[in-house]
Amino acid sequence: MEFIKIKNVTKQYRNGVTAIYDLNLGIKKGDFVFVIGGSGSGKSTLFKMLYREEKPTRGEIIIGGLNVGKIRNNKVYKIRRKLGIVFQDYRLLPKSTVYENVAFALEVIGAKTDDIHKKTLKALELVGLKGKIRNYPDQLSGGEQQRVAIARAIVNEPKLLLCDEPTGNLDPEKSMEIMRVLENINQTLGTTIIMTTHAKEIVNQMEKRVIVLKDGRLVKDYEKGKYANEDI
Ligand code: ADP
Repeated sequence: MEFIKIKNVTKQYRNGVTAIYDLNLGIKKGDFVFVIGGSGSGKSTLFKMLYREEKPTRGEIIIGGLNVGKIRNNKVYKIRRKLGIVFQDYRLLPKSTVYENVAFALEVIGAKTDDIHKKTLKALELVGLKGKIRNYPDQLSGGEQQRVAIARAIVNEPKLLLCDEPTGNLDPEKSMEIMRVLENINQTLGTTIIMTTHAKEIVNQMEKRVIVLKDGRLVKDYEKGKYANEDI
């Protein structure tokens, strides 16, 4: 059974631009998938539909049995609770500590204090930052800030983790650190991970499934892929 099922999805924006054409894609639970493609190929649009910031114009997206496109605006939290999101620019609260940044994700969903404490420490341990819980974001390196953002995204143990260019602001060494953290999450928690990237070395080194988008169409789907210059 596929965890994510994308069926005949087309996305046309109101200005008439079609960003995704008739996309069909299945992703199994626990998969680690790279989505690559040049600028304007539709990667962000696909992500936005997965976390229901945008709705498909046609077709459907099912995540863990939930028809994401059909969810009403006031029920979007239902999908947001199933997934965590990591962005290129970290998006941490600058005036909150590492601990508070992660704990906040549980506070907003009304978790109990004991639970918040346990889960926050567990998530920070998983990303290797238990020693820095009292630091503020500006006292951390870029790689460490991204690890806080990852801890925040997984603290509620989502089944799906979406990573939008998570290493886009990091040097190759820090990028590989982030990749090891993500691989560990994928393997130890069984979290399904979908990641967009432009980083050729990362894709080549990881040897995961690679989906290539070009002008809004799926042009390649490699089982254990390499970064395919010729496809982009
Ligand atoms: P990528 O993330 O691969 O760069 P996008 O999904 O951002 O690609 O963009 C795909 C296409 O959709 C582009 O032609 C882009 O200009 C267009 N597009 C993206 N967002 C919007 C929007 N909100 N309104 C209109 N067109 C958009």
